[in-house]
Amino acid sequence: MTAPADLILTNAEVHSLADPDETAEAVAVRDGKVVRVDSAYEVDFLEGVETEVVDLDGRVLLPGFVDAHTHMATVGSYLVNADLSDADSPADCVELLAELDDREWILGYGFDESTWDESRYLTRDDLDSVSETRPVVAFREDMHIAAVNGEVIARLGEEMPNEDVKTENGEPTGVIVEEAVDAVYEAIEPDAETMRNLLLAAQRDAHEKGVTGVHDMVRRSCAPDVYRKLDLDGDLTLRVRINYWSDHVEAVEEVGLRTNHGSEFVRTGAIKTFTDGSFGGRTAKLSEPYADGDGTGQWVVSPEELDELVARVDDARLQVTAHAIGDDAIDAALDAFEATDDPRAMRHRVEHVELVTDEQVERFAESGVVASVQPNFLKWAQEGGLYDSRLGSERRKQTNRFRTLLDSGAALAFGSDCMPLDPLLGVHHAVNAPVEAQRLSVTEALRAYTLGAAYAGFDENRLGTVEEGKKADFVVLDRSPWEEPDEIEGIDVAMTVVDGEIAFDGRND
Ligand SMILES: [Zn+2]
Repeated sequence: MTAPADLILTNAEVHSLADPDETAEAVAVRDGKVVRVDSAYEVDFLEGVETEVVDLDGRVLLPGFVDAHTHMATVGSYLVNADLSDADSPADCVELLAELDDREWILGYGFDESTWDESRYLTRDDLDSVSETRPVVAFREDMHIAAVNGEVIARLGEEMPNEDVKTENGEPTGVIVEEAVDAVYEAIEPDAETMRNLLLAAQRDAHEKGVTGVHDMVRRSCAPDVYRKLDLDGDLTLRVRINYWSDHVEAVEEVGLRTNHGSEFVRTGAIKTFTDGSFGGRTAKLSEPYADGDGTGQWVVSPEELDELVARVDDARLQVTAHAIGDDAIDAALDAFEATDDPRAMRHRVEHVELVTDEQVERFAESGVVASVQPNFLKWAQEGGLYDSRLGSERRKQTNRFRTLLDSGAALAFGSDCMPLDPLLGVHHAVNAPVEAQRLSVTEALRAYTLGAAYAGFDENRLGTVEEGKKADFVVLDRSPWEEPDEIEGIDVAMTVVDGEIAFDGRND
């Protein structure tokens, strides 16, 4: 006689998302693991007096989403400061920021001028109108560009490299990029208690979106410490794989952290580094000039520095992940990874992979380097969109080539970069991509956000499918993405289960 289940989810359309995708009616869970995936009739035999049984009314149950690229502290910041992601104009942003005018620092996150009629960055003048005495900052959604008011420049101007502070007639416009933005991050760095609140707010948001695991990018912050405390206190209900920024590499080596070490909930991931900037700021590194400006972008980390860092981190047996957006940058990242002993075994990763050539796609497939991409970035791939203006119509069509990558045999992991954190939105974009030849099937897109992302974190035996022996991490959807492939972004998450516990239940919303 087998022991009864702790939890049974029944009357569902269960998709394993394994290959091939098997369907079933019910799932039984014991000690945080899947013990049975079968017909409702068969799973029923595992019901005991203590078993919690949830009737899902025919809803779709999938493995929980794993977001391979997050900034959870930033998500928390959106939730507790001004969220500018839905603003439609500079005036809108000013209005949202003005609501926080009693804060010590007035902070707004996530503006994206590329979608506005008045398509321009916010300026010092805009933000001075919010306050002339308190510091005001509005971060662009890519987080590499920000607008600041005069008070910020007065306080932090000295610490900002001149070339990263935009000027007009010798006067700062208020627009700052890259290292100048870093100076702001340092000044507003949250303490442990603030961080705890940011991460808990972000965790709630993640569960509402069906996310059960994240690969979180962490730089000069107390987040790793706070994650571990939350884990010890039993307050962490999200599986967090921490990718440490390369400024931490010495500390990581010194304390002997190794990729994949940790608990069920907090693990050491990769060392994160950069190559280039972003398309928004025309700082992504291209082999041919921008369509709407001279120049081919700029290195944030030069290829020589990157080679050195990758060799060193690989020697320490740590996974490396490198941000690379432009084709020139992707070359630099692949060069550095291909020079290591076994990039496939180490699962070194390239983040973003936005403008990728045929030859580079082949190199991903052959080397086993993981393409960690953001399908939600396809929102810029429309005619007349950001890619069109920066790259022109031909290169626009060469961005985010998920179909080509997948067909070549490259390892494809989906993530959101928290722009916004919302896997179903990403799946929607991947299935409905503007370039038809690059569209993924619903199953393929969901798999890249589950098993694909799990693989990028060495977690494919633990997470990413609904199969016996795996962790009981699930998302339940109100409607079937297979039945409404062109309306996936509108599907609500009904329930999120992590480690066999219901972490979010939105069924009565
Ligand atoms: Zn990022």
